[in-house]
Amino acid sequence: MPGLKVRDLHTYYGTSHILFDVSLEIEDRSTVCLLGRNGAGKTTTLKSIMGLATPRSGAILLDDLEIGGKSPVDIARLGVGYVPEERIIFPDLTVRENLEVGEKTAPSYVVERWSVDAIYGLFPMLEALDGRVGAYLSGGEQQMLSIGRTLMGNPSLLLLDEPVEGLAPAVVSALSTQINRLKKMGLTILFSEQNLAFSEAIADRVFIIESGRIKYEGTFADLNADAGLKHRYLAVG
Ligand code: ATP
Repeated sequence: MPGLKVRDLHTYYGTSHILFDVSLEIEDRSTVCLLGRNGAGKTTTLKSIMGLATPRSGAILLDDLEIGGKSPVDIARLGVGYVPEERIIFPDLTVRENLEVGEKTAPSYVVERWSVDAIYGLFPMLEALDGRVGAYLSGGEQQMLSIGRTLMGNPSLLLLDEPVEGLAPAVVSALSTQINRLKKMGLTILFSEQNLAFSEAIADRVFIIESGRIKYEGTFADLNADAGLKHRYLAVG
């Protein structure tokens, strides 16, 4: 089944070797979590897929098309949306304007395009803030706007880097419901996290990364049954 296949990635920052033989497989329309502690290599993995970090070797296949080596703009045009950990939004633009600048010509495979109204349907909280400038949004509102703006580019694969980091429990719970809705709409989602409970509520499968190497791939049921594994690689257990 097509989807995203990452094979044997080795990524460096200068002379620092960060990713070692990272391989991931994400089925079309599934949601997969990349779990790991601070500095484990989650951001670097997502950046490598998005073309923001250049792997020295390995392959990245999106629906069987090699995207490794392409520019981030070309990768975005092929249907990959990336929401960075920093939640970049334009502080001087309103919520609506931030969404409008995310709009891109939809690739031909997109049947139903995202609109500002559709984003407001997904995140009602944003509709209430339509005319407010980005600088005055809370962390949770910024995260929803950041995801909304990326959706306006009509991606088929969504990459989310630690989407709930630093957010209040009520916002985490809202985002979990909203991401589950995106999943039901047929998006393929790869997100990185340290928060096991949040990840479990939305992901079908999980990969654990530690020191730039994949240490586990499987279901949450199997992971939860192995306290030693959780203790070794995650900040829990
Ligand atoms: P975090 O949750 O802290 O963002 P992470 O799992 O996303 O962690 P990465 O940001 O991918 O981890 O970092 C992996 C390793 O690469 C870390 O050891 C980090 O110090 C190092 N690193 C990250 N960015 C750079 C850079 N620009 N130059 C050199 N080393 C870097």
